[in-house]
Order: sequence, then C-alpha cells, then structure tokens
Amino acid sequence: MANSLDLIVIGAGPGGYIAAIRAAQLGMRVACIEKWRNPAGENVLGGTCLNVGCIPSKALLASSEHFEQVREHFGDHGISVSDARIDVGRMLGRKDQIVSKMTSGIAYLFKKNKIAWVKGHGRFRARDTAGFAIDITGHGAEGEAVRETLSAPRVIIATGSKARHLRGIEVDNEIVCDNEGALNFATVPERLGVIGSGVIGLELGSVWRRLGSQVTILEALPEFLGAADSGVAREAWKIFTRQGLAIELGARVDAVAIKGRGASRKVRIDYQDAKGEARKLEVDRLIVSVGRQPNTDGLGLDAIGLACDERGFIPVDAHCATAVDGVYAIGDVVRGPMLAHKAEDEGVLVAEILAGQKPHIDYNCIPWVIYTAPEIAWVGKTEQQLKAEGRAFKPGQFPFSANGRALGMGSAEGFVKILADAATDEILGVHVIAAAASDLIAEAAVAMEFRASAEDIGRVCHPHPSLSEVMREAALAATDKRALNM
Ligand code: NAD
Repeated sequence: MANSLDLIVIGAGPGGYIAAIRAAQLGMRVACIEKWRNPAGENVLGGTCLNVGCIPSKALLASSEHFEQVREHFGDHGISVSDARIDVGRMLGRKDQIVSKMTSGIAYLFKKNKIAWVKGHGRFRARDTAGFAIDITGHGAEGEAVRETLSAPRVIIATGSKARHLRGIEVDNEIVCDNEGALNFATVPERLGVIGSGVIGLELGSVWRRLGSQVTILEALPEFLGAADSGVAREAWKIFTRQGLAIELGARVDAVAIKGRGASRKVRIDYQDAKGEARKLEVDRLIVSVGRQPNTDGLGLDAIGLACDERGFIPVDAHCATAVDGVYAIGDVVRGPMLAHKAEDEGVLVAEILAGQKPHIDYNCIPWVIYTAPEIAWVGKTEQQLKAEGRAFKPGQFPFSANGRALGMGSAEGFVKILADAATDEILGVHVIAAAASDLIAEAAVAMEFRASAEDIGRVCHPHPSLSEVMREAALAATDKRALNM
C-alpha cells in the first residue's frame, strides 16, 4: 500500500472520515489512520463526535427528556404515571448501542469506498520521494516501536481536539470528569457541580438535572452564553434557571479537593463569587467543561517543517492548506468553531480541491446548536455583532406561544428572531430558541447561503400547523412588521 496511495488522512472523526470518503468518491486511493479504541479495547472509527461527544450525549439528552416529560408534563395531557423510575444502566446501554451502530456504520462506509483503515497513531517521519512518510505506532506513546510506514503525496491532518483541563484539577473521569466521564455516571449524583456554562456544561448539566441531580454551574465570565444573540441568551437564562439549573456567573475557582474515600467521596470546590467573596461548594461529582484544545501532540510536525500557533492550532488558509505544500488540516485542529459539521464541510472542501474542483465554505453560514430543552440554534450575525459593526438592521421576532403546533406539542417556549439588512432586507442572522431549533435552523442556513431576503422566507409556503411557521412569521416581522398572527 505504501507506494500506491494518493492521500493519507490522519484521524477518523467527522472531519477525517468524511474527507476520506469524499476523496475516495473522487477516485483517490486513500488510507485513514486512526488510533481510537473503545472501552472494550476495540479499534473504532468516528472520533470524539461518535464515541464520546455529539452522538452519545444526544442519546442521554433524549432519555433524560423522556423521563422529565413523564414526571413533569404527562399530567398536562391527562396521562398519569406513578412511580416513574430511571434505570441508569439501561439508559447507558442504549447509548452505547447507538454509538456502536454509528461507528460500525463508518467501518462499512470505509469498506464500500475501499478506504484502508490503518489502526494506530500516525506521526510524520519525513518528506520522501513519494511525498510524506508517516510512521504508524500503537498509541503514539514515547519510544513505541514503529509498526508500519506509509507514504503519500498529500496528507490531511484531522486529529481533532481533547478536553481542556484546569491546572491543579485532576480529571479521573470517575468523580472529576470531562465530557467522557460525564456520559457514564453509573448512578445519578445527588449533587453535581459543573465548571463552565458552555455547550457541554449546559447539555450534560441538563441531562443529570432531569434525572434528579441538584446541579450548580460555575462560570468564570460575567455574561451568560456570550456567543449567542443577547436576546436568546436572556431567554435561555430565564428558562434554564426556572428548570432548576443553578448558574453562578463571574465565579473564580480557586481549588478543588477530593474528600473522603471510596463510594462516599465528595468534591469540594473553593471559589470566589462575582463579588469576590470566598464560597464553598460540595458535590458528589464534578464536570469540567471549559473548552477544548487541538490534538497535535506526537504528530511529528517538525519533521516536515510545520509549526503550530501559540494556542496549539495548525495555521491554515481559507482552503485549509498549511504552510507545507501538500499538507492540509481541518476541523478542531484549525481555526474556526469546534463543530462536527464544520469539520465535515472542510473535509469535503479539501478532497474536492485535491480533485481539481473549486469548492468554497462560507463560515458565516455555519449553524451553531446547543441541545438543551428548548434547543438553541443560530446562523450568521448576532444583534450585538451587527451593532458593533455599525450595520443597520431590522429585527423580526415571533414567539412559539402563538403557534398552534407548539402549543399542541407542549413546547411553546422560545422564539425565532431574524435580523435583516435595513436597506436590502438580506438576512444577516437567524436565532432560534425552541424545541427542534436544530432542525429549524437548517432553513435559515439554506436561505443565507442563497443570500435570501427576509421577504423571500416570508413568501415561501410553510406547512400548517408546524413549528416552521414561526420562521416565516419572524421573517415577515423583519421585512416590514407584517407578521400575520401577531
Ligand atoms: P465552551 O467553549 O462551549 O464553554 C466553555 C465555558 O467554560 C465558557 O463559557 C468559558 O467562559 C468557561 N470557562 C473557561 N474557563 C473557566 C474557568 N476556569 N472557570 C469557570 N468557567 C470557565 O466549551 P465546552 O462546553 O467545554 O465545549 C467544548 C467544545 O465542544 C466547544 O467548542 C463546543 O463547540 C464543542 N461542542 C459542541 C456541541 C454542539 O455543537 N452542540 C456539543 C458539545 C461540545
């Protein structure tokens, strides 16, 4: 195989495996190196997203939401259920089965597309006559024997990211956990602490709160969900705190200590609140969700003359080309949002560039989603970004409480907010807080890719009754305040 490859992809997460598939579709001979092993010790594809990220967390979000529905909301429908209980082991088993189905699905796709799945850790050895030589070892540990060396004229680095940990706070993934351990609590912790009120903190905090944990989230910043539109962030704050998430903003964690032994161990967190006063929090489990950092350790980048930036990312241009001709990098290991779908699109982009095509990604049209209940999703600019740019815009907002389908579903919280250019009516940003916001936002992404005006969405027939009517009403409201049902 060593002399016959057109492309080596390092990493088989959503960026790498999609790049490999698209390149194979375009006629390239592709090998994809992946070292991930599941807890059973089996080599698996899919990276963080499928194994310990998007997919397992969505399984737990669904299970916990059903549980909360049964306990809190079925009564509204006239359904009475007494003594509802959660079997955590079974819930985790269901999640693991979904992960296994998805990861083996990629193995099938690799076979179908004749992609060589090389199991192990890839490290650049040198440039050679065939392009780039990459050594494969078991796990990439220091001094590990090289098992195989592959060469190809083109390489895509898609090695993803790992959880960022805080200095002095050891993550054992049993009692102090990052995203991996937080998906596998064997029992529902009575009190759960979370450091960081970002995407993971809110999603996994919600899972365990719904199952009965008393959840406290400590966030360093004084502002809640600063990346989201401020109107959405305010609404989310109201809803999440009402649901029972205790969120403390402006909290500075000073120390974390484990108290006691065995099953009765507790975590004590010493922190300063927003007023600078010393506070203590004792919990049964702690989740540390303070962002992620790119995986570039042990890649041997210096062997090909490639350097990371000061934050550890691999610098790339708009086409994901690195400073070394023939080497590309995509996904979490490069600039831009750490989102699976952004990585996928970059994988397709690079494969098509290598095949001589001229693809393009508009990073402004990449949607963001937080899978809480209600979900939060957006695409394009927030109101605060437009104000900072000095761009004149017209907002249009419509609530789900005026939508018959939402009321029927018992999901009438939230709204759609559309920001359109004041002069041209072009859609500049769309913000949704609602059930199924992750699906609703796709219409907005399509509209923005086509540079649609708000009136374009307002003139498109939407099914009745459906949640999507709220998108149309918000578009009409943005066009010239002509929402029909308001
Ligand atoms: P994040 O960047 O979303 O949030 C981290 C939060 O931690 C921020 O609010 C930050 O201010 C806070 N923080 C940082 N240091 C702190 C400290 N010392 N004390 C208290 N708070 C602190 O990161 P995350 O939630 O860990 O998620 C990691 C990545 O994974 C993100 O880039 C996210 O996009 C991605 N992800 C996406 C999804 C999704 O798309 N639904 C789901 C999960 C994860």
